[in-house]
Amino acid sequence: MAARDEWSSSLECPKCGKTGEVTFSEDDHPWMKGDTWRIESISPGFEVRTYGRTASETQFECVDCKELARK
Ligand SMILES: [Zn+2]
Repeated sequence: MAARDEWSSSLECPKCGKTGEVTFSEDDHPWMKGDTWRIESISPGFEVRTYGRTASETQFECVDCKELARK
């Protein structure tokens, strides 16, 4: 059984100062690296703007301001 890695990243709206958190997870298959991650949860008030090829390339925005969130 492969382990499932989970990690989170904090989000902050540069306009209104709201903060939140997004949690990612990734299957621990070295030969499939980069293909198996997904978003487990995201704080209310933030949403995905663009899905990147990897979790770190994925961008989020504040739903109130439509500003790109800082990670
Ligand atoms: Zn905002």
